[in-house]
Amino acid sequence: MHELSIVKDIFATLEEHYKAKVEDIQKVEITAGLLSNVQPVLIQNAFDAFITEHQMYKHMELEVVVQDILAHCTSCNRDFKVEYHRFVCSCGTPSTTIVQGNELYISKVIVRTT
Ligand SMILES: [Zn+2]
Repeated sequence: MHELSIVKDIFATLEEHYKAKVEDIQKVEITAGLLSNVQPVLIQNAFDAFITEHQMYKHMELEVVVQDILAHCTSCNRDFKVEYHRFVCSCGTPSTTIVQGNELYISKVIVRTT
């Protein structure tokens, strides 16, 4: 399952960066571009399954932020939002130069302070 391996990667990264404090992490936010092939619901399910199996993480929350796809138009020299997989700028120029939408990363970590 693709999503479970992503969740395992997220925890591996957190464990590496936060070491002993990893259990104090309250909330993790990940940013996933629409082209990254990540289904927020499936990621959430995989996350819930993971923390159920790993009791020390059972209080952790996950939020998935979905990022629009942006492509660059060389005619207008600006970025435009790609909707319904139409990689065409409002001026009519097609573009496959993706400037946003492929990413998948941990964008925020909230650690309990008390
Ligand atoms: Zn344009």
